[in-house]
Amino acid sequence: MDAEVMIRLSGVGKTYDDGTIAVHGLDLEVERGELVCLVGPSGCGKSTTLKMINRLIEHTTGTIEIAGKDVTRQDPVQLRRGIGYVIQQVGLFPHQKIIANVMTVPLLYGESRATARERARELLELVGLDPATYADRYPSQLSGGQQQRVGVARALAAKPPVLLMDEPFGAVDPLVRLRLQDEFLRLQRELGVSVVFVTHDIDEAVRLGDRVAVFATGGRLAQYDTPARLLGRPADDFVADFVGSTSGLRRLDVTPLDPAHLEPLDAVTTGDLGAAIDVGSTLGHALAVLLRDDAGMVGVRDGARFVGVLTPNGIHRALRAALAEMTEATPAG
Ligand code: ADP
Repeated sequence: MDAEVMIRLSGVGKTYDDGTIAVHGLDLEVERGELVCLVGPSGCGKSTTLKMINRLIEHTTGTIEIAGKDVTRQDPVQLRRGIGYVIQQVGLFPHQKIIANVMTVPLLYGESRATARERARELLELVGLDPATYADRYPSQLSGGQQQRVGVARALAAKPPVLLMDEPFGAVDPLVRLRLQDEFLRLQRELGVSVVFVTHDIDEAVRLGDRVAVFATGGRLAQYDTPARLLGRPADDFVADFVGSTSGLRRLDVTPLDPAHLEPLDAVTTGDLGAAIDVGSTLGHALAVLLRDDAGMVGVRDGARFVGVLTPNGIHRALRAALAEMTEATPAG
């Protein structure tokens, strides 16, 4: 059975009035519950693409559908109400308390003040801001990362099936960004919302995206693939350059451990293994634990059961096998 397509762009193009071709012949599908990252150098049409989805910018060719409905056949204001939108300059109202900022959206939908307040408190909790502490503060009393969380809470207030995010974590420092990314991933999985996420940061894209669309200059889609395939099998020199020389290391974080590459347990007793990792871990996590414990191997368990040990050799074999699998899965030509 095919997964349900939530957003479908077919042959979409945008030529601005001054003749700039920002996006050209773009085909892109986002499945329900999928998180898709648009990544590429500055000026390659990422923001334009995002804003065409909620019609902040009108496309000049092709069609854009959300849940099978052509966006141009819908009233833009109605359309935007069903689509959450988060930008880097959060856009909180500075003279309103945090709770009021989040309540704006449910109130807009005609909820009573009591219901809107209740919903806003739930949302603040959802994004990790204790309402007892933060509800009555003003935006300027929050850190950049906290303001960004409020922006996410507000965008989710209408329970939108689709969320568009434009470099939402671009302005916060790297450590806070990692935390926000983790929190957001958990939230996105929990809510099952379909997300299009613009970033110029390839690390962020492969960390968050179920699939990643790499844009090249001129608004051309260079590759649309899973992070593992993007890093392991870049489609052309442009993509290879863009994912960069550290792509080997990044691949560790997007390649799951494969039980086929474990050594049997009989040679060692589980007591000597130190911390064991879960069979669902990535190779990157396995390597991190290997280096941390300096044990030369790490135990792997499936629930309570030990299933084997992973060695540096096993990690190497697993990386090579993952690449080989991609090659087999690639259509000839
Ligand atoms: P990105 O988000 O990848 O940085 P944009 O979508 O913002 O790229 O821009 C794509 C191209 O369109 C760039 O060349 C940019 O200069 C141009 N552009 C963006 N907005 C306008 C506009 N309003 N009028 C003319 N050109 C624009």
